[in-house]
Amino acid sequence: MSKIMITGAAGFLGSHLTKELLGQGHQVVGVDNLVTGRMSNLSECMNHPGFRFIEFDVSNKAIIDVEGVQEVDEIYHLASPASPKLYQASSIETIYVNTIGTQNMLELARRYNAKVLYASTSEAYGDPEVHPQPEEYRGNVNTWGPRACYDEAKRLGEVFCYEYHRLYQVRTKVVRLFNTYSAGLRNDDGRVISNFVTQALMGDDITVYGDGSQTRSFCYVDDTIRALMRMMELDAATGQIINIGNPNEHSVLDVALLVKQLTNTTSAITFHELPEDDPKVRRPVIDRAADILGWHPDISLEEGLRRTIHSYQEKLALI
Ligand code: NAD
Ligand code: UDP
Repeated sequence: MSKIMITGAAGFLGSHLTKELLGQGHQVVGVDNLVTGRMSNLSECMNHPGFRFIEFDVSNKAIIDVEGVQEVDEIYHLASPASPKLYQASSIETIYVNTIGTQNMLELARRYNAKVLYASTSEAYGDPEVHPQPEEYRGNVNTWGPRACYDEAKRLGEVFCYEYHRLYQVRTKVVRLFNTYSAGLRNDDGRVISNFVTQALMGDDITVYGDGSQTRSFCYVDDTIRALMRMMELDAATGQIINIGNPNEHSVLDVALLVKQLTNTTSAITFHELPEDDPKVRRPVIDRAADILGWHPDISLEEGLRRTIHSYQEKLALI
């Protein structure tokens, strides 16, 4: 049994991971400032004897001395707004949590000889000119645009992990996550799957940005969480940066059509302005995840969407 700290525990991925690790008998300390997360995501954990919640901003250096975070064995640093709508609304805080917040977690790990897994992103590749994207690709990020606060902060977060491993032998691991989804996403989160499924179930227009020809590769949350835990567990993943995502690529318009078909909705598909710097394509090369972690995703988009739609129907009290 390990003592595990999860930053961003009240968010989408953090709350899934918290439940999974508690289920395995670990002690979990969840830290979150609730900027985008919700305590309701953790309602089933709050009375668990192995769980402790600390409401705190991990960009604040004082986190290192907060009672309850001492003697941690593992740190999953997931804290950061992730939806473009929400990170652009908290741009400076997003820069801080991925840079200073990452350094704070690395200092904590250094003090207690803990392992650290940092959640970076496919956005580190920006609007990619290499397709699909292997980890060696250095990316095409615009520093002067609305996505830069997220993309560049994540890239610097990766550098902090690299340097703490090189200089201080902190056991750092970095995952570049590609779009992950499930009904755990807030309905108003603004990301494409939560928007489309909520819109379809409510009978509202399904809002495709641009002509919908841009692509993404969607990974169901269970597959992603399994990869994060495997990465933390394996010594071979120390000092590594690994893409985690489902290499099945879909256009946004295809996703809209699939959601429409699976929900049997009368909603119309409508077309809207494409946001600035919206990447045109995105698909991971996952050879490294296969070689080092023995990981590959199991859940297809259609299966994942069926589960997501069913859970949103329950959440929205439609069934
Ligand atoms: P989310 O917004 O649902 O969760 C993030 C959590 O971090 C929230 O609970 C938020 O309140 C918390 N947080 C933010 N800033 C904080 C701070 N300064 N101090 C303490 N807590 C703070 O997002 P998510 O989808 O669960 O993403 C989790 C992580 O994975 C993020 O780092 C994100 O960048 C990364 N990621 C996610 C995806 C994805 O598709 N879900 C893709 C790439 C990367
Ligand atoms: N998108 C869309 N309609 C929406 C929300 C998003 O067409 O209601 C598009 C968005 O422009 C992008 C893709 O879906 O091309 C994925 O967007 P999301 O915000 O989920 O994540 P991103 O991969 O852009 O960070």
